[in-house]
Amino acid sequence: MDDAALILANTPDLAAFWMPFTANRQFKAAPRLLASASGMFYRTDDGREVLDGTSGLWCVNAGHGRIDIADAVHKQLMTLDYAPTFQMGHPIVFDFATALAKIAPAGLDRIFFTNSGSESVDTALKMAMAYHRARGQGQRTRMIGREKGYHGVGFGGISVGGLVNNRRTFVTLPADHIRHTHDMARNAFSHGQPTHGADRADDLEQIIALHGAETIAAMIVEPVAGSAGVLPPPVGYLERLRAICDAHGILLIFDEVITGFGRLGSNFATHYFGVTPDLMTTAKAITNGVLPMGAVFASRAVHDAIVQAGPDGAIEFFHGYTYSGHPVACAAGLATLEIYRREGLLSRVGDLATDWETAVHGLADAPHVTDIRNIGLMAGIDLAPRPGAPGARGYEVLLGMLEMGVLVRATGDTIALSPPLIVSVDEIGRIVETLRKVISNLT
Ligand code: PLP
Repeated sequence: MDDAALILANTPDLAAFWMPFTANRQFKAAPRLLASASGMFYRTDDGREVLDGTSGLWCVNAGHGRIDIADAVHKQLMTLDYAPTFQMGHPIVFDFATALAKIAPAGLDRIFFTNSGSESVDTALKMAMAYHRARGQGQRTRMIGREKGYHGVGFGGISVGGLVNNRRTFVTLPADHIRHTHDMARNAFSHGQPTHGADRADDLEQIIALHGAETIAAMIVEPVAGSAGVLPPPVGYLERLRAICDAHGILLIFDEVITGFGRLGSNFATHYFGVTPDLMTTAKAITNGVLPMGAVFASRAVHDAIVQAGPDGAIEFFHGYTYSGHPVACAAGLATLEIYRREGLLSRVGDLATDWETAVHGLADAPHVTDIRNIGLMAGIDLAPRPGAPGARGYEVLLGMLEMGVLVRATGDTIALSPPLIVSVDEIGRIVETLRKVISNLT
């Protein structure tokens, strides 16, 4: 068989799988298949190496094909493949919660397991409502999110989310939104946290004045907005949100589905920014992306208010998933945490951040580039939309980079970079140099 025939023979039937967040017709006309992965690299179905510039989907923080995780998963499958956590328990779920509590921000050490970021968000929103109700303030049900926020795809998550395409087709729950912090006029090409924009937190005061604090349960933000194109918080912004929430009895939720587990060079963004929420949502890198899992980290105050309320013997929180604390996912998670610990990955970005910042900002003079933002091991690069064809340049960068052996993420005309935390300085150079070539070839 020649190469083309071989590829054709290996290509699966594409019809049945309805792909998520994908232009299905376009994709199936010209599929892009990643067939295997190891370390920093994917390999395509036609055998080409692709450097992973995105940690899969912001989740494979320790790199691909980690044997310790595979072994732990296999061992757990053969020991206890599944057991419920409703009115029953199994040892490894308690061990994993304890291990997570040890790396958690101070006080956020009560762990509720989910299977995804979306489920973590919906769980945290419910916890916020349950907390207020347990304290006799059941009228606090309104949630506040932020423009450009992404909190997954559950009905709770899209209600507090601020990306119009994810919302316009569906009904949403009562929620209001403060403005986003992207301010090109004052903050373009910021290195790290932008200087201007802490005052945008004051939008929350306006919303409180509109609805009454006594109707508001929680404010949710991503400490660094990820899916919207990497928007680090302005200096002083998160502190201000915290203060306003405190002044009005509103819970603050940080959605750390992307920023958790070392992305900024600390265990969580909460540590990095030194601002502690009441609830913290996580997923993705909790198992290095290898098995679906998420976790909500709750403060003692929230946990105790809910769990100490109600009569003895009654279920305190009517919420949970068949796979909350799945034993095999817990095994993957424990093995992942051990790799993070052994290889110092949760703090490694601290050593890389300067090289990263210098490298990505080196693209400032590339054609079409209108803004570059970075923090930790994340970067967003905005391209001017081609007149009459918004998103075309972004998509062409995705394809061009793939052609040249690097995976990046494109949302509209924004390119997002977030390689695994094991990336080398040389590989950072390769990602950025390839990007320069591809961007330079754009029309
Ligand atoms: N929250 C944030 C901040 C995210 O970035 C994501 C996914 O990218 C989610 C929630 C949703 O996570 P999942 O896709 O696992 O449901």
